[in-house]
Amino acid sequence: MAFIELLAPAGDLARAKVALDFGADAVYIGGKRFSLRYRASNFEVSDIAEAVEYAHARGKRIFVTVNMIPHQGDLPGLKEYLLELQSIGVDAVIVASLGIASLAKQVAPKMEVHLSTQLSITNSESMRFYKELGVDRIVLARELNLDTIEQIIDQNVLPVEVFIHGGMCVNYSGRCTLSNEMTLRDANRGGCAQSCRWSYDLHIAGEKVNPSDVPFSMGSKDLMALGSIEAMMKMGVYSLKIEGRMKSAYYIGVIVRAYRQWIDAIHAGLNTPVLYNAIINELKQAESRPTFDGFLTSMPDQNGHLYHPKEEGVVQNFVGNVLEQKDDRILVEMRNLVSIGQALECFSYHQDPQAFTITAMWDEEGQVLEVANKPMSKVWIQCDVDARAGDFLRKKNT
Ligand code: SF4
Repeated sequence: MAFIELLAPAGDLARAKVALDFGADAVYIGGKRFSLRYRASNFEVSDIAEAVEYAHARGKRIFVTVNMIPHQGDLPGLKEYLLELQSIGVDAVIVASLGIASLAKQVAPKMEVHLSTQLSITNSESMRFYKELGVDRIVLARELNLDTIEQIIDQNVLPVEVFIHGGMCVNYSGRCTLSNEMTLRDANRGGCAQSCRWSYDLHIAGEKVNPSDVPFSMGSKDLMALGSIEAMMKMGVYSLKIEGRMKSAYYIGVIVRAYRQWIDAIHAGLNTPVLYNAIINELKQAESRPTFDGFLTSMPDQNGHLYHPKEEGVVQNFVGNVLEQKDDRILVEMRNLVSIGQALECFSYHQDPQAFTITAMWDEEGQVLEVANKPMSKVWIQCDVDARAGDFLRKKNT
């Protein structure tokens, strides 16, 4: 089977490095301008340049989202920004506006132009049109099943990228003004407040139908396409894309590592049901919402709907980041409560999860702790496994 790219998101430089270290072939990031999610971006141009250097040193690539739908007043500075991205070696821009695509091709032709899923591209004729404009890659609409994706690839027009994991937009790939109406934040200019996932009451003919302790949401479950990866590889999908530029480093590490493992296993013919189930369990370690497989194998029905924004079954077991290792202790920047006796797992890109049990903890002043319960505090934990700075710590499922 041919090479297939694993493409991961990152909201800052540290997360970009995590994605690359944990096995992504390419990372997409957004700058502080011209990008959806620009409010959450921590990428100054100097950070983008460092991400490019880090990726290229490892034979990997960096794409930058320039994917807002620009209004006339958004245009000043765009040309200079594209030139700047090209000058620091960015490999591609991901755009949702044909105007930006055209401008990028004119002023910064060394960068590839990838058309965003925001353009809802669902057929090969559209792709032929965009190819004429010089576009290099198409991010297909999420609203396609595997048969249609294969039919599109068989037309051999342009490389295609397909979303495999992460949040779904319950409207047609961002063609939505919920956020605009409810928060005055424009979803297509970087401001989506995810209003579809808020808690609502549902009234039918004036009668409230959801139980008073169970709010209703208009959102979708998240996408999880592990079961379709082999089919996508066989049909010639070029790039498998993980959603989530606002997700944590832990999330990115777990999800990228899991898909990397499965793609490599398929290449090696080692993709057994036992490994599949192990990877499914691993993906669940970082779930923030329940998942389904989107449109890939069938039209979504009520089982894909996120009725309750805080549905059961979501694992939240991340404990913290290892900052330092000294003798038999590790210094951890805490995220969630742990107590003496808690079974933990330490893992990283360089090794599989290693289990140990907390036998002693101290705060930074050396005071003994029975419970560590302050998020972002630094706590020394007794640890008898090989843990290093940069590793992740989580509660072990029992
Ligand atoms: S509010 Fe929900 S449906 Fe609308 S653009 Fe945002 S994520 Fe999509």
